[in-house]
Amino acid sequence: MTRARIPAPEPVLAAPVAAGFRRSRELGETAARGVLGGVFYMLGWALAGGVGGEFARRPLLSVALLLAFGLLAAARVLLARPALAARLGEALLATWWSLFLLTALLWGGVTVWVLGDAQLGNARLVVLICSVAYATAYAHNFPMRWQAALLGIALLYLPGMLLAWWSEDLRGVAIALSVFLIYLLSALRLSRDQYERQLALEAALLRQRDLYEQQSRTDALTGLDNRREFAFNLERAFGAGQPVCLLMIDIDHFKRINDRHGHAAGDAVLIAFADLLRGHFSQPGARLARLGGEEFGVLLGVGEDAAEASAIALCQRLARAPLEPGSPRGAVTVSIGVGQLRPQRHRRPDDFIADVDRSLYRAKEEGRNRVCRIAR
Ligand code: GH3
Ligand code: MG
Ligand code: MG
Repeated sequence: MTRARIPAPEPVLAAPVAAGFRRSRELGETAARGVLGGVFYMLGWALAGGVGGEFARRPLLSVALLLAFGLLAAARVLLARPALAARLGEALLATWWSLFLLTALLWGGVTVWVLGDAQLGNARLVVLICSVAYATAYAHNFPMRWQAALLGIALLYLPGMLLAWWSEDLRGVAIALSVFLIYLLSALRLSRDQYERQLALEAALLRQRDLYEQQSRTDALTGLDNRREFAFNLERAFGAGQPVCLLMIDIDHFKRINDRHGHAAGDAVLIAFADLLRGHFSQPGARLARLGGEEFGVLLGVGEDAAEASAIALCQRLARAPLEPGSPRGAVTVSIGVGQLRPQRHRRPDDFIADVDRSLYRAKEEGRNRVCRIAR
């Protein structure tokens, strides 16, 4: 029976997301979503401190806080620059999260300060509204690392909510904040699930694309390169300026195998012959292709003498060992044309192929089961 060489595509969608893909996706998302967030903490404190009159009352501390938020915001912008990101390498994500959580911790401190001071009046509401806004941004923007996002929400939100419960005049606000916390947690869970689903879908699409791309270059029966890939490699060899030899190999009287034993047996011979080619031309850089039917092309980065010796050795190998267990020795023979690329003679890949093809037909005419070189 025919053995299929190319893996079936159906497990692709179910396969887990590769760690490298997940990481690069997470890095991109974290930078895109985190780069501008720092500015809002600066604005939040400028507004709360201004409304509460803190800049007049404690100018040094207030300006120092504004500067601290400013520095943290600037660090985010710097971190999004590719040069710095490349230098940090593995530590990049941890650095992003250190910045996020440090900012959240500082805001939590601001909240404790403002809510703890009854004098600050309206500033307390400004701080609480900002805390709600920042925590909501965490729940929606950072599903990539939900445990860290949860910690960020806790640092930002819990101080305000707990202190609101503490202050009698903010009891109603405390109830509203507690109810909103339930929304925050479910929004974070929802965005995490959505992110995971999207990631899995994108990874599956990429794998599918790679699979189809690989299939478009591979011969389905034998797993060798197909004609298209062979043409591509030959074109590349043309520009490389290195010695390159082409072997055109055609199985002799293949039609008889089909006629005697059936098409499936013919397929099995083609598969076994492809395996033999892989074993025989195992040197790095050798490209093996099925050009169609029972015709194969081999590109070798060696001189013509070495290529011819290799071709003769292939014929001898076939004579010694039958392709399929149980079939008689020497039942399958091949005719081979061999030639080295000569830039002054072969102007285009087609000239080279035609030249080697002529020597293959000479091998057929001279009685098959032999190797012929291109004319000098
Ligand atoms: P020659 O020595 O002159 O090359 O003779 P041949 O019989 O090998 O060549 P011919 O061109 O007359 O026949 C090639 C046969 O290969 C005919 C075709 O049915 C068969 N063939 C082509 N592709 C496949 C395939 O994928 N599987 C099988 N089993 N047979 C194939
Ligand atoms: Mg043939
Ligand atoms: Mg043929």
